[in-house]
Amino acid sequence: MTATRPAATSTPASALTFTLPCPDLGPWRAGNTGTEGVWQFDSGVPGRHVLITALVHGNELCGAWALLGLLQAGVRPQQGVLTLAFCNLAAFDRFDPGNHDASRCVAEDMNRQWSAERLTTTPGAPLTPDLQRAIALRPFVQQADWLLDLHSMHERAAPLLLTGLHPRNVALAQALGNPAHVVVDAGHADGVRMRDFGRFGLPDEQAGDCRSLLIECGFHGDLSSRDVAHDMCARFLATAGALSAADCQRLLPGWRLPDAPQQTQLTVTGAAVAQNERFCFVEPYQGLETIALAGTVIGHHDGPGIGEAVTTPHDDCVLVMPSVRQAQAGVTVVRFARAACRTMPPTLTPDGKTTMTFADNLAQLPPVTHLAELQLLDPAGKVVATIENKPGKAGSLAVYAALAAKHGSIDTAAAEEGLQLFAEHTETARTHPGSHPNIDRLLEIVATGKALAVKLVTA
Ligand SMILES: [Zn+2]
Repeated sequence: MTATRPAATSTPASALTFTLPCPDLGPWRAGNTGTEGVWQFDSGVPGRHVLITALVHGNELCGAWALLGLLQAGVRPQQGVLTLAFCNLAAFDRFDPGNHDASRCVAEDMNRQWSAERLTTTPGAPLTPDLQRAIALRPFVQQADWLLDLHSMHERAAPLLLTGLHPRNVALAQALGNPAHVVVDAGHADGVRMRDFGRFGLPDEQAGDCRSLLIECGFHGDLSSRDVAHDMCARFLATAGALSAADCQRLLPGWRLPDAPQQTQLTVTGAAVAQNERFCFVEPYQGLETIALAGTVIGHHDGPGIGEAVTTPHDDCVLVMPSVRQAQAGVTVVRFARAACRTMPPTLTPDGKTTMTFADNLAQLPPVTHLAELQLLDPAGKVVATIENKPGKAGSLAVYAALAAKHGSIDTAAAEEGLQLFAEHTETARTHPGSHPNIDRLLEIVATGKALAVKLVTA
């Protein structure tokens, strides 16, 4: 296990505030398969075998929260089989928010063990707990047709969906419609990831219906990483056909975030691998910086300005996931990529329509039949508007209620999300002010930053 070494040009791990609490797996830790932490639900109806994995790295809690949410909600596949696996429990058990990097693994990275050679061991040979656990999980990974592996990041950065090089997975990333950045990456030099194991690593023409994606949901300790994990699970289950739109709405209200307006595809062209633990960047890169000129020095192998320099291999080089937290000989500290931006094609809704309309979005929101009205209050507590639960207003009521449940009030972030949910009506409201007062109000909150509190009145 690597010791955490503060980097000269980067914030020490402990300085990044860890706000995401550590989940208590409680009774959900046991599993129902005879393998601890692994749950399997068989619909009895032919269909895909979908696997969602979390805690392949013990300090990446957002995925554990998402699986816990799926289990607590009682999610069951409408067809095929759904497997949910909390992976490196031994590493997770060592989690300490003050030194979270230390619980990434017990002795070696579980996500570098996924080749037949590593997983096939001679009897009696000493095994690390991480490899032992990978061997126990292997049958479930082998059974799966579609795999979503939930991860988070060392640094505070935008979520990234890692597809690998196979076009089938790039296409799936596009079909999911979120997040905004997709990374087309080859594997790691130091070992194979679960995402690339067995059938998942085969070329398209041999892989049949196999699909596998790895999502990096943002910084390990940010609450938003859990929102991203929720969103990805909801989208993945719906796209895989495991969960109907109605069940998604009923069981996982609020999980699905608005679609990314455009998706940037980052094709990895290379990587910098540390020669030792002293590797150091010349700037505190956060990721997704574009370096204009080839040959620009971005780091040094032996400390600030010391030793062999690392330079960008081409013009307009995007830095993907720069981090020195795990730096040691052979560890990737940054990937290089070329960017191609594309406006999102119309997202396929679960029922096969081609664009997300307000009606589509509304169908994803929690029902509001229990509400009589929703009141909006200014900072002085004065009611400034009321949205009644009556024909023509119930949709706005559902949007505002969902925004308040998620954001606590109608603040700028809530208003921005609301404008996306109102979809085509937002365009009309912009061009015809006054025609949609409940959308005009959101535009005003975005413009002024003046939030409104929400009071729900039950019927
Ligand atoms: Zn990870």
